[in-house]
Amino acid sequence: MSDTTALARQDIAAHLHPFTNLAAHADVGPLMVTRGDGIYVEDEQGRRYIEGMSGLWCSALGFSHPRLVAAGVKALQTLPYYHTFNHRSNPAVAELAERLLAVAPVPMARVFFANSGSEANDSAVKMIWYYHNAIGQPNKKKILARQRAYHGVTVASASLSGLPTNHRDFDLPIDRISHVDCPHHYRYGLPGESEADFATRLAEALEQRILAEGPDTVAAFFAEPVMGAGGVIVPPQTYFPKVQAVLRKYDVLLVADEVICGFGRTGNMFGSTTLGLQPDLLTCAKALSSGYVPISAVMVSQRVHEALAANSGKIGTFGHGYTYSGHPVACAIALETLKVFEDERIVERVRALTPAFQAGLHQLGQRASVGESRGVGLIGALELVADKATRQPHAPEVKAGPRLAALAQAEGLIVRAMGDTVALCPPLIISEAELATLFQRLGTAFDRYEHASAA
Ligand code: PMP
Repeated sequence: MSDTTALARQDIAAHLHPFTNLAAHADVGPLMVTRGDGIYVEDEQGRRYIEGMSGLWCSALGFSHPRLVAAGVKALQTLPYYHTFNHRSNPAVAELAERLLAVAPVPMARVFFANSGSEANDSAVKMIWYYHNAIGQPNKKKILARQRAYHGVTVASASLSGLPTNHRDFDLPIDRISHVDCPHHYRYGLPGESEADFATRLAEALEQRILAEGPDTVAAFFAEPVMGAGGVIVPPQTYFPKVQAVLRKYDVLLVADEVICGFGRTGNMFGSTTLGLQPDLLTCAKALSSGYVPISAVMVSQRVHEALAANSGKIGTFGHGYTYSGHPVACAIALETLKVFEDERIVERVRALTPAFQAGLHQLGQRASVGESRGVGLIGALELVADKATRQPHAPEVKAGPRLAALAQAEGLIVRAMGDTVALCPPLIISEAELATLFQRLGTAFDRYEHASAA
């Protein structure tokens, strides 16, 4: 049990945690994080940790950027709230929408705002259904996503997610949402199959699936450019071009979920550019405000916008939106985030740091305990295995990933274990020296892990 301070006891007694073993929380206790600065967070006891995951993949500009704080304070003092229903607007949302269109990876026509990645993806699902009703294709409503995808936890976005914990005992996925293969070559490639052949096989399987469902019934395909919570899975380079050829053939819309990849993470402003996606809709969140306030967005193409507008013109309103869509404080902080990205040349910075980051991962990947190291830009993962040669995973009760994450935390480094895959996604403002410290701490954690495993 961690330190039982008064705050910890309050938390245990009153707080129902997300994505936590609720039964174990009283024994495990909370890590009570009280402050943050740069790439560091500090707990109640004053212990400092490198936040190697940017929180939940979001704090791109770290935990104390003065410009984001100043923008938030100014917005709170000027207009702490207003809504955007019924033709209402505010300066920050208008400027932010324009800026997002300017940085979009493909031409986009409009931006809709929500508060979380889940809401953005739910909104995209509803827009896709509305769109097909609008264009007179009411039967084209099925949506495909992928095994091991993570798109959120609201009813539709959890259905899009392809992870058992998001479905099991929640009676999900809902009808009309189903899953196709995950493009993880290391795990699902056949013996001797090249990455290119694997990508071809998956694209062919997708085509067979669309044909089996009936092309007139399949509306859209959701994909993260790099899968995040499913284990940082970087698809083969030819995967998206091949998949998109199939989608275009059957007029299936592509939604890029850029909630993790968006805003520099992969070495371009959007993962779509890095991985070759030309989406019809794009969802983003997290680094959009560097995690400082909740905000997410859905960008839609001209073709989609025209249909939404024409249909709402007929029925009198587009009946979708949130109390906090285009919240002026959130938009002001997001706008400042995008300005900081430009002024501090954050994407160039990611590119400059990428070789050192990927080399650090690759080096750890040589260890006997690691089956695969993988990543792109400043996101990566190490998959722990019982046997490197056969790729045999550990038995679940070994809890290899959580053990390594706990050892890293004891060294002052926060990483995330997703099963036995340990992810890294540091703030994009990390310096070269800080990156070296991160890998040194992770290396020590691996030494202890391997030593304990051998004992
Ligand atoms: N999509 C992706 C790719 C994500 O990684 C996440 C969150 N980890 C979501 C959607 C859901 O975002 P939120 O937790 O803000 O609802």
